[in-house]
Amino acid sequence: MDAKTLKEEARRAGAELVGIAPAYRWEKWPGTANPRNIQPLCQSVIVLGRSIVRGALRGVEEGTNFGSTYHEYGKSWNERTFLIRTIHQVAHAIEAAGAEAVPLLGGGAGMDTKALAREAGLGSVGKGGFFLTREFGHRQRFGLILTDLVLEGDAPADVDFCDGCDACLKACPLSAMAHSDGGLFSLNTQICGVCQNGKFDGDALSYERLDRIAAACGRACMVALEDRIDNKFHETFRKRSIWTRDLNGRVALHPLATKGGK
Ligand code: SF4
Ligand code: SF4
Repeated sequence: MDAKTLKEEARRAGAELVGIAPAYRWEKWPGTANPRNIQPLCQSVIVLGRSIVRGALRGVEEGTNFGSTYHEYGKSWNERTFLIRTIHQVAHAIEAAGAEAVPLLGGGAGMDTKALAREAGLGSVGKGGFFLTREFGHRQRFGLILTDLVLEGDAPADVDFCDGCDACLKACPLSAMAHSDGGLFSLNTQICGVCQNGKFDGDALSYERLDRIAAACGRACMVALEDRIDNKFHETFRKRSIWTRDLNGRVALHPLATKGGK
């Protein structure tokens, strides 16, 4: 099986994003981050992604539904039902061709899924800490397959969405993000841990253990990028005043254009 055939199989299995990180990009990584910690003869890491539908963030955006919209279709089912089926199907296709395929959700295995997704050419981590792709911005989840197949790799692709942007930082009601000397904003994860603005705790096997995709910061990123990513909509996402909750749970409403709105 070559890379082209593999990618066709992955698309048939429901992957909307697929990239390959060849061994020379990660074989010197330390400890559990190195795929050979799990599969000694690993030659390629296949990174498979499925998008999170924009509508899964709607209930959080309106402050009216956090459970069956984002918690299930954005997070739990997206990862544990839809994505793992894609991974499973692709792994079977690889093994039917005679190579070994180790299916993984990267968080539980101690792998750095975001770093591998970058090395597989799918995008890069933005200043707000979200993995950003040209196709969906921050709205996707990734799974991994380690294989002893030697496959042609994809070139790493830094996305440049964050230049001149700090919408995620400005949108945080708890000031948990701050400018820093490095490329990324600093993030106070202790504050995020008690955030009531759409933050969720990630599944034990997820690489998003602190899931900020639907939080005030994540939704602001989505709004900031909606004209720039490939996945476009007839209507803009943000329609009403923006709600926020402080550390005591008190709700405030902000007119559009003052808190990450348009
Ligand atoms: S998760 Fe909450 S506290 Fe953390 S940066 Fe986002 S909005 Fe701020
Ligand atoms: S809101 Fe802007 S600065 Fe923050 S991660 Fe998204 S694109 Fe980057």
